[in-house]
Amino acid sequence: MNFNTALLHDGVDKKEKYGSTLTPIYQTSAFFQQSAEDLAGIFGGKNPGYCYTRVQNPTIAVFENRINKLEGGIGTVATASGMAAIFNALTNILMTGDEIVSSASLYGGTIDLFRDLEAFGIKTKYVENNNWDEIESAINDNTKLIFAETIGNPCLDVTDIDRLAEIAHAHGLPLFIDNTVATAYLIKPIEHGADIVINSTSKYINGSSNAIGGVLTDGGKFKWTAERYPVLKDYLKFGPFAYIARLRAGLQRNAGACMAPQTAYLNQIGLETMGLRMERQCTNAASLAKHLQDKYPSVTVNYPGLETSKWHSIADKVLKGGYGAIVTIRVGSKERAFKLLNFLELAYRLSNIGDTKTLVLHPSSTISLHSTDKQKEDAGVFEDLIRISVGIEDIEDLIADFDKAFEKLDQE
Ligand SMILES: *Cc1c(COP(=O)(O)O)cnc(C)c1O
Repeated sequence: MNFNTALLHDGVDKKEKYGSTLTPIYQTSAFFQQSAEDLAGIFGGKNPGYCYTRVQNPTIAVFENRINKLEGGIGTVATASGMAAIFNALTNILMTGDEIVSSASLYGGTIDLFRDLEAFGIKTKYVENNNWDEIESAINDNTKLIFAETIGNPCLDVTDIDRLAEIAHAHGLPLFIDNTVATAYLIKPIEHGADIVINSTSKYINGSSNAIGGVLTDGGKFKWTAERYPVLKDYLKFGPFAYIARLRAGLQRNAGACMAPQTAYLNQIGLETMGLRMERQCTNAASLAKHLQDKYPSVTVNYPGLETSKWHSIADKVLKGGYGAIVTIRVGSKERAFKLLNFLELAYRLSNIGDTKTLVLHPSSTISLHSTDKQKEDAGVFEDLIRISVGIEDIEDLIADFDKAFEKLDQE
């Protein structure tokens, strides 16, 4: 099955009780059973079935199954948000004293989370993405995983996942990839050696900014050991399912950051058109980036699809079907950035990406507000930087909106 067909048909519940074409919203907190024995059987894991939505729910289960097929995993867990997915993914294996080696080019929220983990004695060593020597030398006996984003948000660096996976595996470490910005449309990280893939569904999967959610998918190939990952000891009997088994029995249930059934439903709808939207959004982004670069020489345009991007050759190697739908521009000063943002009429000024509509934002004063100057610099966040999440509008209208805003800016 090809990509768009799979989005419509793969992992869908075709035996849905009444023939509904989407799994309906099971808007219920709990599920009754015919007998006390049946309920006990479900709790004991002896019978399949549902007991409580924090643990599992049919609408969520189908959505998880669809993402799992899409990413090529052995198990997918849906969460309340992308941040919850990252938190659960990490803390499912980490203990006090453990270290993460991470690309420094990260979403601001993830940097904030890594700082929160320090209170639990979990340290993160930041390295320059794709700097193999620096990555090798950051790894020590306490390192438990390597973390990177496929396309860094908002730096727009592209990770050579194959190479990073090789290094991780040579050190007996799993590679965790946040694929939110690239999506499975551009790359399926598990096929490139990633072990755990995280997506914020709030972005391109949902597509219309109508629900916050996250998913994490286990590729099932990493060989967990009790020596290095003592918290998995009781779960190693599940073989390749050890990681997911602990997550489902542990934090997914006990931290309580489950996806809402309605969110799973909205995400099912979004998923069907993700390929079409990405195709259009990538094309629009490429056109807008080229237009801005050609027309405004004083503006620095950053887009992995441009030959001038430092990451163009890696993008060419790892991404298929486009270069993503985010473009960043540097306009000279924070003041000019704010003015340009305010002059735009079509684009929404808000902190999100992956919507059908074009969204713009000043990262330094918003999503990276809590980062230190060094963290901002490493994450490619500058005072004069604007991030554009390109939507599916007609490109002529988008270009006109930016041209008009630049015209006003130059008249100032
Ligand atoms: C938005 C985002 C997240 C966080 O996802 P939420 O659903 O907002 O919690 C994580 N990583 C990246 C790359 C993101 O863009």
